Amino acid sequence: VFGWTSRAEVPWIVPVVGSALFSLGGFSLFNIMGNPRILVIGSLNTDLITRTSRVPAAGETLISKSFDTGSGGKGANQAVACARLSTQKCDGPQNVCVYMVGAVGDDTFGHELAEGLQNNYIDVTGVTAKESEKTGVAVIIVNEQTGQNRILMSPNANFSLKPEDFTTLSDFGKDFTPTRLPCLIVLQLEIPLDTTLQILKVASKHGIDVLLNPAPAQVLPKEAYAAVNHLIVNESEAAIITNTADKNPDWSKWGEHFDRIVALGVRNVVITLGAEGVIYLETREKKLWRFDAEKVNVVDTTAAGDTFVGAYAVAVTTVVKGGGDFAAAVRWANTAAAKTVERSGAQGAIPWLDEVPAYWE
Ligand code: ADP
Repeated sequence: VFGWTSRAEVPWIVPVVGSALFSLGGFSLFNIMGNPRILVIGSLNTDLITRTSRVPAAGETLISKSFDTGSGGKGANQAVACARLSTQKCDGPQNVCVYMVGAVGDDTFGHELAEGLQNNYIDVTGVTAKESEKTGVAVIIVNEQTGQNRILMSPNANFSLKPEDFTTLSDFGKDFTPTRLPCLIVLQLEIPLDTTLQILKVASKHGIDVLLNPAPAQVLPKEAYAAVNHLIVNESEAAIITNTADKNPDWSKWGEHFDRIVALGVRNVVITLGAEGVIYLETREKKLWRFDAEKVNVVDTTAAGDTFVGAYAVAVTTVVKGGGDFAAAVRWANTAAAKTVERSGAQGAIPWLDEVPAYWE
């Protein structure tokens, strides 16, 4: 339904001025085959944000302090993070092709969301505008006194994605065939769970790598994790999916929980710890790295987790596939997410490639 404006696709062999991100990958056979392709299948939402000095009581009407709209949805945010973190801000080349698949209503919000993604150089031909649906909306009330958010989410069109919409690989997008697969599929849990499980089945059949960010957290059937190569969770999500009795465990004491994480059966697991940084577990070889968060001036942590996911996705499809290691990918994602924390807003706060120093010179 929607089109795609891309920046020039530059062969990887061409050195990218100002960033060492691709210097390592530039020599691999992989890059001769074309740019890596990341496919994000997930949610698109319009955020309706009101600020108030207190939350109205039942039956009460209160005048808000301010109102704003924003583009959101974990799927869309992570697609923006993938696109920006593989593109230099000032008309630089685009080194990863990012595709979004999802559904919006055939309404103003839906069209604006798709246009916003296009402006971030994302292929939105897989985003369907459905006449019978409304675009997903998150109504957010921010209490200025306490800083607390109250969010009421209406998934709307996001929940119209059905398992039968993803029966074969060609359903994933016009560019995907059994001989031309995406390098990585990125999933969250803001579309129906049975649809996500179906996508995992098709991905697994074709041997496509999948990164799952199981948010909002739900416990998946055991066999679903077998189709996941990369799992990125925050602390509370980690507690839910591992069935930890303590609902608020201290994940920095990773040793206590290691076996439960390993039992999920996903090889690469990242647990983000907010201001405490991040841990990465390679569960087959039982290796673990821990990185402190960058010391930054915290303005707004919205989209920090989504930035982390996008940065990690870009790094694994470029640097790691080019022979780099996961630790560098995780460190880079940690740095990218910290940049988002320094700015207010969601998608608008996500940094571009040249704003995040590389670790693999
Ligand atoms: P989520 O937003 O999904 O709950 P986290 O709060 O764990 O995710 O944050 C994701 C990542 O964002 C962290 O692992 C870290 O890299 C970065 N981050 C979050 N909060 C801060 C902070 N206060 N200072 C620096 N980096 C942060």
